Amino acid sequence: MSIYFDNSATTPVLPEGAKAAFEVMTNNWGNPSSLHTSGIEAQHILKKARKQLALSLRVEEREIYFTSCATESNNLAIFGAVESLKRRGRRVITTAVEHPSVYECFKALEERGFEVIYLHPENGRITEESLKAAITKDTILVSMMAVNNETGDILPIDKVKKIIERAGSPALFHCDAVQGFGKIKIEPVKLRIDLLSISAHKLYGPKGVGAIYVRKGVNLKPNLLGGGQESGLRSGTENTASIAAMGVATQKIFSDFNTYSRKISELYDLFISKCKEYDFIKINSPENGAKHIINISLPGLRSETVLHCLEQEGIFVSSGSACSSHGGETKRARVLSEYGFTREIYDSALRISFGIFNEKEEIEAFFPVLEKIYERLKR
Ligand code: PLP
Repeated sequence: MSIYFDNSATTPVLPEGAKAAFEVMTNNWGNPSSLHTSGIEAQHILKKARKQLALSLRVEEREIYFTSCATESNNLAIFGAVESLKRRGRRVITTAVEHPSVYECFKALEERGFEVIYLHPENGRITEESLKAAITKDTILVSMMAVNNETGDILPIDKVKKIIERAGSPALFHCDAVQGFGKIKIEPVKLRIDLLSISAHKLYGPKGVGAIYVRKGVNLKPNLLGGGQESGLRSGTENTASIAAMGVATQKIFSDFNTYSRKISELYDLFISKCKEYDFIKINSPENGAKHIINISLPGLRSETVLHCLEQEGIFVSSGSACSSHGGETKRARVLSEYGFTREIYDSALRISFGIFNEKEEIEAFFPVLEKIYERLKR
């Protein structure tokens, strides 16, 4: 038996996407910057994928730029925005629960002398009131994630731009949409997002490719200088094979968006109702969060111990955020302690994250195994 409940760490690549990547690697491996036929073919591959991403976000093709991952997209959005607006102010705002690929950029901005404001959750939620209180006329950037990667909390990204405008601030609005893209409805135009980051491997595409949406008219300073690819915003030869796979996977997920959402939602409902049957499980995720991420705790037991016991039974979950597992104890606890959880809760936290290939039977099978592990470890 093998049950993969760690889809927020990464997802399997869809066979259709892998096939597209193989085709590019073996037949259409030209450099999109070359002027001859194979280069033109490679340009077509980029164009097709750009269109597939643009359609999924309902934006224009020219507003999509490929990068190597969402970490790079986040770095580009934050440093690029600040570089281009720094003459208009020194204040920047983000939340204290961002992924390290955003949070660490703001820490670096602090060192460069920017005034960085971190919004902290109040009663478990980041509120629009805290943003209203923090914003000033000289704020040049607000960065807020769409869905928290550890708890599934949905942040109030629909309120941000209005608050920026009411404050008379020139701030750009960046959204790290990695855990929301393809899971909840995110339309940058409707939400008036200026910059948005996504990653292929969280939505059935390969690792090592991401994208950034940059609203037309927004001037972003590039981080990588070189051959001027991606309209000068991101130099470096594009990863055509992975980009092709990302395009195909994105298109597939969006064409069946409602079906997949319904499926994940049913998995969520079943999982939550099962949790309530066991006294030893505490649910940490908010009630109206995203349906694909559920954070639970088994107070008294350490996450890693339970994770490895589950692994021995062929069940894969996360002890928090896989992306931050390099950060050591304090970095890993940051997000859950910001959400107001005690040490006992975050030390025993497990993140279960669903994907389109999970089935209800897997949830049915999960709980007796978890109970067996709990009973054994408690002794
Ligand atoms: N942002 C969030 C919310 C994430 O969950 C992750 C990865 O888990 C990233 C950014 C980084 O994505 P990538 O692995 O593409 O750099």
